[in-house]
Amino acid sequence: MPDHDFRSPRLFVEADLCAGAGIGLDPAKANYLLNVMRLDAGAVVLAFNGRDGEWRCRIERTAKKKADLVPEQRLREQTPAPALAYLFAPLKHARLDYMVQKAVEMGAGILQPVMTQHVQASRVNVERMRANAIEAAEQCGILTIPDCREPLKLDAALEAYLPHGPMIFCDEREDAESPVATLARLPKGPLSLLIGPEGGFSTEERARLHAETSVTAISLGPRILRADTAAVAALAVVQATIGDWESAG
Ligand code: SAH
Repeated sequence: MPDHDFRSPRLFVEADLCAGAGIGLDPAKANYLLNVMRLDAGAVVLAFNGRDGEWRCRIERTAKKKADLVPEQRLREQTPAPALAYLFAPLKHARLDYMVQKAVEMGAGILQPVMTQHVQASRVNVERMRANAIEAAEQCGILTIPDCREPLKLDAALEAYLPHGPMIFCDEREDAESPVATLARLPKGPLSLLIGPEGGFSTEERARLHAETSVTAISLGPRILRADTAAVAALAVVQATIGDWESAG
């Protein structure tokens, strides 16, 4: 991991970032920096917008409760979004928040909710997913906010993602070889990873997935994991075998 400033607060902003062009902070962000973090004029804040890399900015006070961020210097160049789409059956509230944050930390570039037969949450708040994704990216030095997409049914998800690369499907009934050996045979490049709901996939859905030649089932070991744990375990094994951990450090 390259040298990185983890001490200064880090904020996602929508505005373009270029030297000297002050960005007005909305009241929530101004309140966070001035009152929660107790920063004042001249303090350093890192900002990123998913397009222009990461900038060192200074706070400039414009009124009692208002402030601008003034970008001074680009510290890191923009990196492309990871080519890993994370497909998951949505969970309820707190577990979904957690799963989204962890998926962002683990390097998902697309977050795609998939409605399966035994899914527990009937609706997904994509705005809330994005807010969680932003929070995780801010905390972990990530430069791109994953694309948070509207839910798709399983069939539509297969249609949308299979043309773009292999799909890895975490199947709790797959008691075959180690996932490391299975994944090592897949080509490197764009791929999608699918995890089921707490209720598991239905028999029909499993049959449908096993019938697709570009879908590869993997096991995550002999224990059934909860979906949010499975997310972290699967993303770790994928990143370590055919993902971006290989080039890390
Ligand atoms: N209720 C189901 C378990 C669902 S776990 C049952 O008891 O059979 C939620 C999801 O996590 C599963 O659909 C699967 O995608 C993934 N998962 C959990 N444990 C797994 C394991 N040991 N191997 C592969 N996938 C697993």
